[in-house]
Amino acid sequence: MSQPTVVISGAGIAGPSLAFWLANLGYRVVVVEIAHGIRPGGQTVDLRGAGGDVVERMGLMPKIRAHALEQRGVAWVASDGSHRAEMPVTAFDGNGLVSKLEILRGDLVDVLYEATKDAVEYRFNTRISALNQDDDGVDVTLADGTQLRADIVVAADGPHSSVRGMVFGPEGRFVKPLGGYNAWFTAPDHVGVDGWFLMYLAPGGLNASMRPTHDPAMAKAGLAFASDPISYDRHDIDEQRRMLVDRFAGAGWQCDALLAAAQEADDFYFDSFLQVHMPSWTSGRVALVGDAGYCASPLSGMGTSLALVGAYILAGELGR
Ligand SMILES: Cc1cc2nc3c(=O)[nH]c(=O)nc-3n(C[C@H](O)[C@H](O)[C@H](O)COP(=O)(O)OP(=O)(O)OC[C@H]3O[C@@H](n4cnc5c(N)ncnc54)[C@H](O)[C@@H]3O)c2cc1C
Repeated sequence: MSQPTVVISGAGIAGPSLAFWLANLGYRVVVVEIAHGIRPGGQTVDLRGAGGDVVERMGLMPKIRAHALEQRGVAWVASDGSHRAEMPVTAFDGNGLVSKLEILRGDLVDVLYEATKDAVEYRFNTRISALNQDDDGVDVTLADGTQLRADIVVAADGPHSSVRGMVFGPEGRFVKPLGGYNAWFTAPDHVGVDGWFLMYLAPGGLNASMRPTHDPAMAKAGLAFASDPISYDRHDIDEQRRMLVDRFAGAGWQCDALLAAAQEADDFYFDSFLQVHMPSWTSGRVALVGDAGYCASPLSGMGTSLALVGAYILAGELGR
């Protein structure tokens, strides 16, 4: 029997995780990523519950632990920076807002990429531009003109999945806004977060935060605001930065410093808080995994674990 081929769209968490398992099962695996390389951005993500079990089964837990960030917990701060309330990392048996095992999203993506890059063909700076399914397989056209023939195509290209759009229908049918927007980026640490996830709440539904990184001079910043759905261009980062300035300028604590950092950050990431609800995760030979199929939103704290577990289950089913 010839080697089966899977084409995976997206090299975030779900894509490389699925690639790991399918390469082990003997598939030829091609991962197509729209960015120039793996995307380093994001804050700490946690690997609680089944997500941690999957990482153990991948044999990657020692590498994950080597990148884990020491965290002290969450502290809600007043405008002058004083701690109003604290939830230590030990709260809820280590399963509170900050969990016992947290790793920067960028480090996790790195670990997954390093674990797969020799067995998997990564194609960066391109995307799937057309799909044509027949009884025996899928013709896949990439934006750079490459033609591939696949047995299976998997969309792991995040909550705004374009492959899902091609096969399942327009995003508006599946994406449920949760009433807010969020930006993440790296910023100079002017306050000394000292292992704390500092959170500042301001009137008008504003939430500014700073979290530790491996570099004591830098923090992972977040600016989130409550809002009804806004019509904006997801590819216009300057417009997104302006939306933050309109809301956070003069809002107190470190907001002005964080706005300045957001202008400079090369890992600036902005999206709405949303969920993805699909009636089915497959259509013929095309499947969805991770946020493309069942984004629970960063508010859930479960996106990473759900991506890891979904990839593991899908690979298990394909391997039967
Ligand atoms: C830069 C970044 C930062 C993030 N930061 C956080 C965070 O701080 N906290 C948090 O809880 N969650 C964060 N997330 C979301 C989090 O990674 C996911 O919720 C979760 O891990 C599920 O992963 P995923 O692989 O399904 O999706 P994602 O991690 O979003 O990965 C999707 C990948 O698909 C790629 N892609 C998108 N469109 C296409 C296309 N058309 N063709 C090919 N590739 C495409 C993207 O560039 C990305 O690499 C972030 C996501 C990204 C991309």
